[in-house]
Amino acid sequence: MPLSSPSPLPIQMLDLVAQHAPLQAALEAATHHTLAEAAFIQGPAVAEFAQELSAYLGGTHVIPCANGTDALQLALMSLRLPPGAEVIVPAFTYVATLEAAAVLGLRPVLVDVLPDTFTLDPAAVEAALTPATGAIVVVHLFGQCADLEALRDLADRRGVALIEDNAQALGAQFTASSGATWWAGTVGEVGTTSFFPSKNLGGFGDGGALFTTDAQRAATLRQLANHGQSRKYHHDHIGLNSRLDTLQAALLRVKLPHLPRWTAARQQVAAHYDAALATTPGVQLPARDARSTHVFHQYTIAVADVPGSREALQQYLAARGVPSVVYYPLPVHAQAAYAYLGYRAGQFPVAERLCRTVLSLPIHPTLTSEQVAYVAGVVKEWAHL
Ligand SMILES: *Cc1c(COP(=O)(O)O)cnc(C)c1O
Repeated sequence: MPLSSPSPLPIQMLDLVAQHAPLQAALEAATHHTLAEAAFIQGPAVAEFAQELSAYLGGTHVIPCANGTDALQLALMSLRLPPGAEVIVPAFTYVATLEAAAVLGLRPVLVDVLPDTFTLDPAAVEAALTPATGAIVVVHLFGQCADLEALRDLADRRGVALIEDNAQALGAQFTASSGATWWAGTVGEVGTTSFFPSKNLGGFGDGGALFTTDAQRAATLRQLANHGQSRKYHHDHIGLNSRLDTLQAALLRVKLPHLPRWTAARQQVAAHYDAALATTPGVQLPARDARSTHVFHQYTIAVADVPGSREALQQYLAARGVPSVVYYPLPVHAQAAYAYLGYRAGQFPVAERLCRTVLSLPIHPTLTSEQVAYVAGVVKEWAHL
C-alpha cells in the first residue's frame, strides 16, 4: 500500500513540547508566582491542586506525595500489616508495584493476568489468597480498569485490603453491575497515582498522589507522607519525607483542567488505530472491557508468539520513522532483585508471553489522524509481508 504524502513524520511516542505549547503563558505565570511566593514545600498550590483533583474524582480525599512509588509504599504503610504479610500483585506490571511491598519487608505474591485485558485475573487472585494475605494490589494497566467489582467483592469477602495502583488510568471509570460508576483509584481502601512526566497527567518532574474515601485514613496518609507528624515536631508515626513540591502542584493545576480533553484525544487516536488495524493478521488489538472506560495511557498490541517477530515489527517501524516501546520486556519474577521470591520460568505463562509479544504504539493527545493512519499503514504493511 503506498503511503500518503505529505510526510506525517516526525512521530513521537509522546510529545510533551507540543502538549505544553498552548499552555506556555499559564505555566510561566505559575512558575513566576511560585518563585515570588517562595513557599516551596507545602505551599498553597499543593492543597489547591489536591482540592481540584478531588473535585474531578467525585470528592474522594486526595493526598499529594512525591511520586507514584512512594504512594504505593504509603498506601501499604497505612494498612499496618505484620512483617512478612503477603501482598498480591500482578505478574505483569511495572516493578514499582511490588518494589513498594518488598521494601517494607512484606512478601510480594505474584498472580498471572488475563490474556485479553492484561490485568489481574480475579480467579487466580482468589486461588492465591492465604491466611497471611494482607492486601491485593490491582494495576489498571495501560489505562483500563481491571475487574474492580470482582476484586472489591473478593477483598470484602476475605477481609483483605484492596489497593489500586492507578498510575496509568487516572480518569478511567468502571460501571458496576448495580449501575454505579466508580472512578479508578477510589474503589480500593487506597488508590495511588503518579504524575511522572509521561503519565496521562504528567508534571515537570516526579509527583504522585493517594486517594481514599475514608477521612480517617486520609488524615493518617497525610501524616505518613510528612514524617508521620500530626503537627510540627510531633511525630505520631514512622513516616516518609514524601511531599509534592509546590512548584509541581502549581504546574499540575495548569494542566489538570485539560485532562478530560487530552483523554478524549487519546481515545480518538485509539479508536482510529482500532478501525485501521481491525483485520490485521497476527495482530491482537487492545481488548475493551465494556464495564470500563479506557484512557489509553498506552495503545498496546500483541503479535504472534514467534521468536523474533515482535523485534522484526519494531525494526520495520523504526526504519520508517515510527517509534515503539516494549512495556515490559522482562516479567517481574525474572528480575534479578526478585529472585529471592523463588519463582521459576513458566509459572506465569500469560505474563511471560506478553513480555515476548507486546508492543506499544505512539499515542498522545497531539498525534494527528495522518500520523495514526501512517503508523497503522506501516503495521499492516509488515503484517502482510
Ligand atoms: C509509573 C508507575 C508507577 C510509579 O510511579 P513513579 O511516579 O514513577 O514512582 C507505579 N506503577 C505503575 C503501574 C506505573 O506505571
